[in-house]
Amino acid sequence: MTDCIFCKIVDKQIPAGVVYEDDEMLCFKDIHPSAPVHLLLIPKVHFDSLAHARPEHEALLGKMMMKVPEIAAEAGLTNGFKTLINTGKGGGQEVFHLHVHIMGRPV
Ligand code: AMP
Ligand code: ZN
Repeated sequence: MTDCIFCKIVDKQIPAGVVYEDDEMLCFKDIHPSAPVHLLLIPKVHFDSLAHARPEHEALLGKMMMKVPEIAAEAGLTNGFKTLINTGKGGGQEVFHLHVHIMGRPV
């Protein structure tokens, strides 16, 4: 059993405001938003951070990056958005399952 909170969201053991899901990734609303739209995009497979990504994650990371603008536009961020990946304790990471913050203000 994993204690990872984001794995539990993937497994539907913990509810989340899911805005996008496919076989490989999940996007849901940040529980403590720091922008009017604040989403987290995660891979369904667990790895701790960008610093823990392995070669087999390369295609998945590419797919996630390609999905970001689509999710942002769907959330109303048609004028632009911010993305953030905190990595490691020194990078401000608090949840150790890789995630991309997608933040912005709808126009
Ligand atoms: P980071 O500092 O990059 O690790 O960000 C972790 C983010 O996860 C924070 O913005 C939290 O508000 C968010 N978060 C933590 N638990 C949950 C949860 N159960 N559902 C949605 N977002 C969460
Ligand atoms: Zn996890």
